[in-house]
Amino acid sequence: MKYRTILLFGAPGAGKGTQGRILGTIPNFFHCACGDVFRNLSIEGPVGLTFVEYSSRGELVPDEPTIELWRQSIAANTATGRFRPKLDTLVLDGIPRNVPQAEMLKDTLNVFAIFYLRSTNSQSLVQRIQRRAIRENRLDDASLKVIRRRLKTYEEETKPVLHYYGRNLVHNINADQIPAKVLVDILRHVVKV
Ligand code: ADP
Repeated sequence: MKYRTILLFGAPGAGKGTQGRILGTIPNFFHCACGDVFRNLSIEGPVGLTFVEYSSRGELVPDEPTIELWRQSIAANTATGRFRPKLDTLVLDGIPRNVPQAEMLKDTLNVFAIFYLRSTNSQSLVQRIQRRAIRENRLDDASLKVIRRRLKTYEEETKPVLHYYGRNLVHNINADQIPAKVLVDILRHVVKV
């Protein structure tokens, strides 16, 4: 059975996590942010160490451990009843993050909408990321060099995922608006499908 899935897409700092967390509070939606799954790992374990190594450089964690960890997380949430695949829409944020990951998940996900949170202002993205660094104590947000690397990784590796799924599924959302307005724009489409 494939999971009925919405993807939240956009550059680091575009607000995917904020929107995902809100959507996840609506009955029959389950939010899963891949970055949170990594951050919840013990950094003493092998995958935790790999995560720290790559994310502190602003690079993506290799695909195999990423997909494996993500599958385990979804299985655990299914086992505990937090995610009910037959009833719930999966709201994914941060995965698939490149075309090989989208390929690896093609038999698992039934992606029916992609919300592309677009910002015209890369300076404001950087500022949002820097504010978050302090609030959430994130290593990968701490230095400007790592933030720039992350934005470059997004352009080069993540953006092609949009073409992989095709423009028909993509809804452009203005990410420069206040979060409540971004949410309204997303929900307007969600209630239609
Ligand atoms: P952001 O949206 O700000 O980039 P995330 O919390 O989504 O932050 O991700 C933080 C870091 O975790 C990424 O820079 C990357 O190193 C790692 N990561 C998260 N999701 C994935 C993924 N699907 N594949 C590979 N690495 C990932």
